[in-house]
Amino acid sequence: MQSKSSPLGEFDVIQRFFKTQSDAMHASNPGSVTLGIGDDCALLKVDPVEEIAITSDMLVSGRHFFQDANPEWLGWKALAVNLSDLAAMGAKPLGFSLALALPGPNSAWLEAFSKGLFAIASQYDCPLVGGDTTAGPLNICITAFGSTPKEKAIRRSGAREGDDIWVSGFIGDARLTLAALRHEITLSRPDLEKIQGRMHQPTPRVELGIALREIANSALDISDGLLGDLRHILKQSNKDAEVFLGRLPKSDTLRKQSLAIQNLYAASGGDDYELCFTAPSSKRDAITKISADLNIPLNQIGSIKPMQHSEPEIHIVDNNGKELNTQEADLLLKSFDHFA
Ligand code: ADP
Ligand code: MG
Repeated sequence: MQSKSSPLGEFDVIQRFFKTQSDAMHASNPGSVTLGIGDDCALLKVDPVEEIAITSDMLVSGRHFFQDANPEWLGWKALAVNLSDLAAMGAKPLGFSLALALPGPNSAWLEAFSKGLFAIASQYDCPLVGGDTTAGPLNICITAFGSTPKEKAIRRSGAREGDDIWVSGFIGDARLTLAALRHEITLSRPDLEKIQGRMHQPTPRVELGIALREIANSALDISDGLLGDLRHILKQSNKDAEVFLGRLPKSDTLRKQSLAIQNLYAASGGDDYELCFTAPSSKRDAITKISADLNIPLNQIGSIKPMQHSEPEIHIVDNNGKELNTQEADLLLKSFDHFA
């Protein structure tokens, strides 16, 4: 909290916690930014052979994070989820804007939030170029801008029959962390410490998305749960899929849980921000090379099939090679829905 003698105004907040850091990034690398924070609009340079990718994500207190959430992690995550959307399209980050509603100008909170935010902004070379600051219940909305060569963005609608379905990294650890924090399961302290970063400070797969531009037919990032999100690809591509539960990539920590929990969290737990993509089997060697070059595990979990009915279906095959019945499958297909 501020002392009475030096109340922090809106413009002090912008200057102290956002503009100074943003100007420093700009000074060391102007990149695509012609004009950053301070005028009515920011100005970004646009390469005529590129298209601009735009995405927004809002984090609402009490909805997406606990009221007392660590502000440094929040700053990181607010940008990470947007960079993950850029990654899913194969877009390279250009910059982002930040709309912030704050209950009050709490400088300790802002300091930590700004630290987390600029840590990831610098890591991915994605400068803050503008925003809005207002009083209100804590709400963080970021809009990120990226670029892809014309017609090279990887869309959800491009999956083709016979494509392999791939997943990056490990999935289910963010959900496992949430379960531990909610006391739904017990996890040892060392185990929690090993995986909790997956929920609080996810890694957007930006380099992977860019590497997949000429390789993947379709892609998305896993925010609400693998199978539910995969269904978005199937719907937009008018395809079915076959997925092998035993191939879902899981961490050693998740593997210590019962098989039912492992399958549930890996198949339907949200907040992982890994990429799910489809690619023709002719690209397997290229994908193995990308995995080695970027040091990111890439696992083939199934394949794309022709659509048999009026709605896309996912056929889920268990560890014994048996297809799950509708009831068993529904449990794993249930992804997170804010209005459900
Ligand atoms: P306007 O009234 O024209 O909308 P503001 O007075 O709200 O502009 O903001 C002044 C400048 O500070 C603008 O360049 C705006 O983009 C920037 N700005 C405001 N809030 C933020 C923020 N939270 N992060 C980064 N830039 C911000
Ligand atoms: Mg304004």
